[in-house]
Amino acid sequence: MHDLEELTTHCIRCGFCLEDCPTFVETGSELESPRGRIYLVRSAIEGKLLWEDIKPHMDLCLGCRACETACPSAVQYGAILEMARDQIDRKRPSLTKKALLASTTNPTLLKTQLKAAKFIGGKMPGFVSRALAGEKAEANLPKPQINKPLPPLITDTPVRGEAYMLTGCAMQVLYPRVHECTRRLLRRLGYVVRDVDQGCCGALHAHNGDLETARKLGEALTEQFPDDFPIVVNSAGCGSTMKEYDELLEYLMTIPPSGSSDDIAKEWEASQQHKKKVDGFTQRTFDLSEFLFSHGLLDELKNAKGLSNKRITYHDACHLSHGQKITSPPRQLIQAIPNAQYVELPESMMCCGSAGVYNVLQPKMARRLLNRKVKHIQETHADIVATGNPGCHAWIAQGCEEQKSARVLHTAELLEAAFIGIEEFI
Ligand code: SF4
Ligand code: SF4
Repeated sequence: MHDLEELTTHCIRCGFCLEDCPTFVETGSELESPRGRIYLVRSAIEGKLLWEDIKPHMDLCLGCRACETACPSAVQYGAILEMARDQIDRKRPSLTKKALLASTTNPTLLKTQLKAAKFIGGKMPGFVSRALAGEKAEANLPKPQINKPLPPLITDTPVRGEAYMLTGCAMQVLYPRVHECTRRLLRRLGYVVRDVDQGCCGALHAHNGDLETARKLGEALTEQFPDDFPIVVNSAGCGSTMKEYDELLEYLMTIPPSGSSDDIAKEWEASQQHKKKVDGFTQRTFDLSEFLFSHGLLDELKNAKGLSNKRITYHDACHLSHGQKITSPPRQLIQAIPNAQYVELPESMMCCGSAGVYNVLQPKMARRLLNRKVKHIQETHADIVATGNPGCHAWIAQGCEEQKSARVLHTAELLEAAFIGIEEFI
């Protein structure tokens, strides 16, 4: 990988990706399709178009990577998008986007913003959404979840090891119970979470093309998880970026650094050192569902209380299904819950429109995709929708609340509920 121009040459323009691309499906426009966007990026590289000309089409892309799953030519579209956004940002940095990313990925700032939003009806102030999206967003800001305490964990499984858990930014503010359930499920398998001070993983920055900040945050995170324990991540967007830190570094190493030759030599040396650490780091990063599945939770679930009379469906978070190619482990775990009735969600792998901060920056398209998602959820008549990413969780919960449809739970909450009873959760 890692040379943008070279990456674009893998597209053979077959169009197999078009019908899986949410923005193409919604608009019918080639310019809002993966094939069209790759062509635009290539034209900008060749100087036939300005980077600025292609910006609106790159902005409307969700970064969902459904096109990667559909592509017979293994085009790395996610990398193309992030690098193209990086190029656009280097030409004309967006201060409003930088401010949004900084405030969303800082738990203290995020908490303060959401508290303040309560006093103005839970919505983003009009002047903020106009500055960010050029229009007033109708969406509510997510409400942090307040839950009653869970009963003490009872397990006779002996301790067999330690694991790190990414606490992240949005998850610890919006859904602290997901972290609690993650700890409990890991302990049921014999793993104790080693608590460490940690910062943001840089996923939102990477997805939005601020690759230099993503690299710095990634570098700090590799220092914060020094021991050779598995790193368990319950947020699909974060896990996907953490598993790709090596690719991010390789790309950044293709951009000539500025400064004196001494600075350049030092930067190169630092990148080489960082790369060595990152290689081990990516290999020990696991999504929670993949870790639970491969470490025996299916067997544990045989003795769980179960969820009687509950109809359950599952929404694939894009960065889990398309980014990490994980679709079967969460489904198999949910289907193993005693007495629960699983029903497949139509278009389960199509983006819900949340896509990190996309629903703030592109509220109209995000809303169209949310309506489409909620309509399919209603068709399933499910009581509960499970998913593995805080952005999807908050966005789909908002749509389901408006339509009085299913309750949304993180997969970790649903699985823990199977052990201690759903009444503790709903
Ligand atoms: S499926 Fe792949 S090769 Fe075909 S047009 Fe889409 S991106 Fe290009
Ligand atoms: S990432 Fe998603 S929205 Fe963007 S081109 Fe690919 S399928 Fe379409």
